[in-house]
Amino acid sequence: MTAAPGGPIGGARTCTACGAPIVLVPVNRNVPVRRDERGRRRIPLNPGAFDPASPVPASHALSAGRRECRPVTAADPIAPHEHLALTHFATCPARSHARTGGPLT
Ligand SMILES: [Zn+2]
Repeated sequence: MTAAPGGPIGGARTCTACGAPIVLVPVNRNVPVRRDERGRRRIPLNPGAFDPASPVPASHALSAGRRECRPVTAADPIAPHEHLALTHFATCPARSHARTGGPLT
């Protein structure tokens, strides 16, 4: 049970939609985000260090200790002491398929 080098520190889980490994990382308390059904503010990140060659841009910034994260936005870009990370929502094949599958019914 060791985290991948450079990856986020959090709760190792498996995506219920596609079965890929994910890491649940708390979102910085200063960032307004939707809470999950249990009132927690955690989001699934892809484990391991962010791949600079990724076709999908990084979505989140991990804190220096990699124990919490926040969304990266144009108004709030990555800081030198932070680490880029990508939410699993952006790459989950099950979710992306659903998202492009047409209008919700
Ligand atoms: Zn998935």
